Amino acid sequence: MRVIDPGAGRAAGSWAAAGILSPSHPEALPGAVHALATRSLELWEEIARRHPRIELRRTGLLLVGDDPGWLAWRAARGMPADPVTWIRADGSAVAGRRFPEVQVVRTPRVAPALLGDIPVEPATTTLERLRAEADAVVIATGAWSAPLLEAAGIAVTVAPRRGQMLLFAGGRIETVLMEAGPGGVHLALPRADGRVVVGTTLEDVGFDAGTVPADLDRLEAWAREWVPGLGAREDAWSGFRPWSDRAVPLIGHLAPGLLAAVGHFRNGILLAPATGELVADLILGRPPHVIPGDFSSPPP
Ligand SMILES: Cc1cc2nc3c(=O)[nH]c(=O)nc-3n(C[C@H](O)[C@H](O)[C@H](O)COP(=O)(O)OP(=O)(O)OC[C@H]3O[C@@H](n4cnc5c(N)ncnc54)[C@H](O)[C@@H]3O)c2cc1C
Repeated sequence: MRVIDPGAGRAAGSWAAAGILSPSHPEALPGAVHALATRSLELWEEIARRHPRIELRRTGLLLVGDDPGWLAWRAARGMPADPVTWIRADGSAVAGRRFPEVQVVRTPRVAPALLGDIPVEPATTTLERLRAEADAVVIATGAWSAPLLEAAGIAVTVAPRRGQMLLFAGGRIETVLMEAGPGGVHLALPRADGRVVVGTTLEDVGFDAGTVPADLDRLEAWAREWVPGLGAREDAWSGFRPWSDRAVPLIGHLAPGLLAAVGHFRNGILLAPATGELVADLILGRPPHVIPGDFSSPPP
């Protein structure tokens, strides 16, 4: 197996992401995505047993703010959403709901752990040459997939949606804290080392991987209000979610010997293991755990 990647660094979604293993806006996602998520969660457990460095932890999630759609979706499935109280930095109490099953991983450590000794080659070749050399080529190029899909004659739009994130030295928080409201999603989550990750924005700014001081200040102000004992700001970055015009990721054959695994938008960390498994099943002819047709491409 060869892995070819020019290296987007921290702008790759798989580096930049918060690492929450729970569907974002689940009520808006089709059943196929939930089936992929369910299988992924089984696989995340296996991966974490082999690679404890990825710090898979069941932190749960505490939702504050008004998100009746998400709560109704959970209620319809009998999923717990116990009323709880969150104490903010100024001591004031706010009502929220606790989702106990939610887990997190430390995203920047995942790809290196899974790659192990497999070298990553810079992208100095063409798709045509790769297809001539390999039995199967998989396009898994996140927000950067549009030109490759177009070259393959696939009419699926994929485009970057930037998200900015911050890291703080510490804070008294043991759960994912999420506030969903009309201004977007604010979140804070504890890392195993005691640091606190805060986000995020959802922006259509092309491939501008910078951060905007006013956005970072706004996110920090939110976090200082909500997370008691928040430490100093240590870092900030932005990365690209691979938005697509499909409601489900595109996973499957585009042509003989050419596959895609793209368009995971907000949920690509959650969905990564089952996506990889489905790709491998399709290449090796193994019986898949999910319905491949749910994710396959439209005819070119
Ligand atoms: C701020 C933020 C927070 C997020 N939080 C979460 C979360 O909590 N939970 C969750 O499940 N998801 C989250 N996501 C979404 C998730 O990060 C993405 O859906 C997922 O990482 C996409 O993975 P990917 O492998 O498709 O793309 P990426 O991880 O972006 O990887 C694409 C790779 O393709 C490479 N590449 C580009 N062009 C080429 C080429 N021509 N040839 C070869 N390689 C190429 C790039 O260098 C890059 O390394 C978040 C995303 C962001 C930005």
